[in-house]
Amino acid sequence: MKICRFDNDRLGVVEGDRVLDVTAALDVLPKLSWPLPQGDLLIANLDKVVARINEIKHAATPKPLASVKLKSPVANPSKIIGAPVNYQLHIDEATKDKGLGQGKPILTIDAAGPFLKANSSLVGPSDGVALRFTDRRNDHEVELAVIIGKRGSAIPQEKALDYVAAYAIGLDMTVRGGEDRSVRKSVDSYSVLGPWLVTKDEIPNPNNLDLWITVNNETRQKSNTKYLIYDIERCIEFFSSFYTLLPGDIIMSGTPEGVGPVKNGDLMIAEVEKVGRMEVRVRNA
Ligand code: MN
Repeated sequence: MKICRFDNDRLGVVEGDRVLDVTAALDVLPKLSWPLPQGDLLIANLDKVVARINEIKHAATPKPLASVKLKSPVANPSKIIGAPVNYQLHIDEATKDKGLGQGKPILTIDAAGPFLKANSSLVGPSDGVALRFTDRRNDHEVELAVIIGKRGSAIPQEKALDYVAAYAIGLDMTVRGGEDRSVRKSVDSYSVLGPWLVTKDEIPNPNNLDLWITVNNETRQKSNTKYLIYDIERCIEFFSSFYTLLPGDIIMSGTPEGVGPVKNGDLMIAEVEKVGRMEVRVRNA
């Protein structure tokens, strides 16, 4: 099932070029008071929500997909975890291009470890990316995003996919420079998630998906998740050795070669096989 958040926090199911408004399915979510449980409430209860959607969607009002504003399908992640340099050809380009690597040695993923992107940087495709520090390079990174479904710590690879709820497209936008990744990749709007989440039953193997991105119709990055150095299971094992993973946590699994700069007015179109396609506008903040 493809589930989106659209317009003013409406819940939708995407079927072809239509969105069915199934916001009423949210009535299965528990009522809360302070302190709120950690993690995203929708994702923590996704099985119940999907069951309710299946009961009510036949009566839901369809809207043209092109007429809605798509928001981040995860509203309240406890964290956004990034995988650094997780494709060999991206390591090679970062080693060669001083604008990317800043002349510093490129650490492998096992040596560098994961990094965190601020939750306040999270937006959906309709929000667009608002560039800051425009005197510096601001690059796109297209990635397969993994949405964690349940709490887990020290998760072994063999069980890792049991902890996944869904997949989406992630854009790990980046200001190039000397600061730590968690600074340069956490600017407001520098984490784009969309266009919707695809429940994991539709993607039995996340480690063989084509992904690509165009900027103003020019192909910039084009690869396949089979070239991940740490595949999705190993990312989950590695990251959960540091952090307890919670429902709604977002893993951006790393970007292939071809990262490049964007500027005010650009249109990015990103696609991941079996997930979908999203259009994201770039503007100056
Ligand atoms: Mn990245």
